[in-house]
Amino acid sequence: MATETKVKQCLKKFGFDKFRSDIQEKAILSIINGNSDVFISFPTGAGKSLCYQFPAVYKEDGLSLVISPLLALIQDQVTALNDKQIVARTLNSTLSQQEKKIVLGDLMQRQPTTRLLYITPELAATQSFLSIIKKVHQRKLVNYLIIDEAHCVSQWGHDYRPDYLKLGTLHDELSKVPCIAVTATASQKVIDDIYSSLHLRRPVIEFKSSVFRPNLFYDVQFKELVDDPFTDLCQFIDEIKKMTDTQSNSGIIYCRTRDSCSELANKLTQTGQCGSVKAYHAGLTNEKRKQIQDDWMTGSISIICATISFGMGIDKGDVRFVVHWDLAKSISGYYQESGRAGRDGKRSHCRMYYSARERDTQLFLINQEINDKKIADEQKTSMLSGFNSLVQYCEEAKCRHLVICNYFGDMSMKPCEKMCDVCTQRELVSANLQNLKKKKFD
Ligand code: ADP
Ligand code: MG
Ligand code: ZN
Repeated sequence: MATETKVKQCLKKFGFDKFRSDIQEKAILSIINGNSDVFISFPTGAGKSLCYQFPAVYKEDGLSLVISPLLALIQDQVTALNDKQIVARTLNSTLSQQEKKIVLGDLMQRQPTTRLLYITPELAATQSFLSIIKKVHQRKLVNYLIIDEAHCVSQWGHDYRPDYLKLGTLHDELSKVPCIAVTATASQKVIDDIYSSLHLRRPVIEFKSSVFRPNLFYDVQFKELVDDPFTDLCQFIDEIKKMTDTQSNSGIIYCRTRDSCSELANKLTQTGQCGSVKAYHAGLTNEKRKQIQDDWMTGSISIICATISFGMGIDKGDVRFVVHWDLAKSISGYYQESGRAGRDGKRSHCRMYYSARERDTQLFLINQEINDKKIADEQKTSMLSGFNSLVQYCEEAKCRHLVICNYFGDMSMKPCEKMCDVCTQRELVSANLQNLKKKKFD
């Protein structure tokens, strides 16, 4: 059994003096004291990384293998761990031969110094990697197989990554090694997919906490009902600045296209009221993007206008608002993107700008995507139903938190009463919806 002092000492290595929550502690203690497969679903910001990093470091020797979907994410985590004097390494295609040699050399040692080895699912599926990790496993040096952002395995989620499907084989190869699957967004369908595709071995121990984010204020603003949406956006940013006593008015504004990112960033800059605003999208060089992200992390850029390629796994606590200037693609995507606000637990705002025209455009694009690509029927259905649920979210006068929680199968949720526009201004929201319906028929 874990002794209290040992646990405290290990927490110190991460720079923490206590667990963030009871459920974080329970999950961690259960992992270090048992050897079952574990499924963890906590909302963004709950501290899921520690749930696997702690057990990985707590074990006296051997290493843990972490699968994570993006190189940028891997790099952030590896750097953060190294800053804490914890030996984390990565193997990926961007390493030089020399760097690769160092990592591989360490893995072949009798006692590797690597405690966490981060890789992408693409690499995990290659024969060359499988044969390496099998050798390490034969020497009983693999402690845990960790799958971060496990919802990527499912077509019912919003970040489907086919390479995640191959992780089941990896899990089979690593017989007896407990698998820890971690995610922030899991409807029952996604959970079923995670269990079956990752070949989780029953009984799986589950740790789930509600998707409800009590510090986030959700509202929907109708572009067609305000005089000028841009002025409305500026007012919104201004109000947030006044509301937060901290200096930070850090925010993300999601736009659908690269052009609208740049255009909006320029317009906001010209007002001179919003601090430094920059566009971020796939059309910029990697270097430029990294620079913008770093400047935003440190606060010298306050607002980023980005396409949804921005943000997964980014650990910035004081994001005070997330705006969707164009409609999101699905309700689970919206929950994930907007959820990047308020990781520090302080009040933050999530606003969706909705318009009937935008809804039709987005539906058109989704249909186009469905017809163009050879995607499975299951995924088509999920794209459409995820989108329709989002439309319903916007077009119904129902507590926003309640709609989100119900979507993820959390039926115990009651109306939030004070953290959404419907609960605080039901009459206004209903009147707006009436007006919107009238407009449609004009
Ligand atoms: P997510 O659940 O979204 O993956 P992270 O693991 O990135 O969340 O953690 C969110 C933030 O919480 C990070 O800044 C992390 O350092 C912090 N955190 C996690 N556990 C603790 C803890 N026990 N004490 C203090 N801060 C913590
Ligand atoms: Mg995470
Ligand atoms: Zn509410």
